Amino acid sequence: MSQSPNREVAIQISGLNHYYGSGDAQKQALYENDLTVHRGEIVIMTGPSGSGKTTLLTLIGALRSLQEGSIQLWGTELSGLSPLQQVSMRRNLGFIFQAHNLLDGLTARQNVRMAIELTKVPRGDYDKVANAMLGSVGLSDRATYKPRNLSGGQRQRVAIARALVNKPKLILADEPTAALDKESGANVVSLLRELAQNHGTTVMIVTHDSRIINVADRIVNMVDGHIVSDVRIKETMVICGILKKCSVFKDMSPSDLTDIAQNMSEEHFEAEEDIIKKGEIGDKFYVIASGTTDIIIDSDGGTRAVAKLGEGDFFGEVALLKDQPRNATVTTRKPVVVYTLSKENFLAAVKGHKSFEDQMSGALFNRS
Ligand code: ADP
Ligand code: MG
Repeated sequence: MSQSPNREVAIQISGLNHYYGSGDAQKQALYENDLTVHRGEIVIMTGPSGSGKTTLLTLIGALRSLQEGSIQLWGTELSGLSPLQQVSMRRNLGFIFQAHNLLDGLTARQNVRMAIELTKVPRGDYDKVANAMLGSVGLSDRATYKPRNLSGGQRQRVAIARALVNKPKLILADEPTAALDKESGANVVSLLRELAQNHGTTVMIVTHDSRIINVADRIVNMVDGHIVSDVRIKETMVICGILKKCSVFKDMSPSDLTDIAQNMSEEHFEAEEDIIKKGEIGDKFYVIASGTTDIIIDSDGGTRAVAKLGEGDFFGEVALLKDQPRNATVTTRKPVVVYTLSKENFLAAVKGHKSFEDQMSGALFNRS
């Protein structure tokens, strides 16, 4: 069995606290935050002003030193890095912050070129690469303009071009589309999506822009220095789609279904693998997303397949509801993808959702 494939961890945060000021004036801005972000994920951060979003982004970006807790980027701990090591870590990152820090004396193209000069791109290609990047933010005709001759939105787009031109492994962005018109905002959204999909770029972005929310994988909500929720959007939608085809879930309201889907994990099994074994302690509930399995019971000293399960079928509920060992073995025929719910989340869902409870007692009656 494996968890979802291609899940290389990009950002691992644990027990993160942060304080501003000292003595009586000390104020805590972040409280015990944990977060794991994978390669290629687009994560949105939302939350009221003052909730700690910018503080968290600047800590992840090694723009501020860590005080308490841990942040690892691709396995490297940021806590205790020397200033020089922080600079070298920042080479992997693209920053899009509100104060865009363009150099006034340089043209748009020269501002973008500056970022390329730190890389392995051959010198002769600098202008070609810079022009292409300016083109993709819709500024081909402004390449030779200096910042003072550009509008606020155009300056923001130059800053975005500069942040993205090196295809950084991680992009940290603070309200990057707030100053942009509709079309430029949409261009930036598709750029971010292209980088995430084709280059495995991880994106963490503070925004209330619904277009970005539409391409995001997760929404992390912050309140008063705490991450209060972390929703995997696409996965949740896919899981809801499967659950709706499943007889026990089909009468559930969308919000009940979303509650359950949010707590489910995806697991993969090869052909002819046992997903659960008779006699084991039951710790999960399973819904089949794809593939087929056999339910196998003991019979006359041997074993016998008594039922075939496929997409939208579920199993594993009896042991959880009765607090007994597994009463059968479930084996895959072909490779299988399942969504699982931990025992704790399963029992909470049964208790919390009347229609689920009714469906589960019906299932128990039929199967035991
Ligand atoms: P957000 O980006 O969600 O608006 P911030 O991370 O900017 O939140 O701020 C979180 C808290 O930390 C707020 O109470 C803010 O007043 C405080 N804060 C942020 N930056 C500083 C600073 N440089 N000095 C003192 N307090 C700060
Ligand atoms: Mg902020």
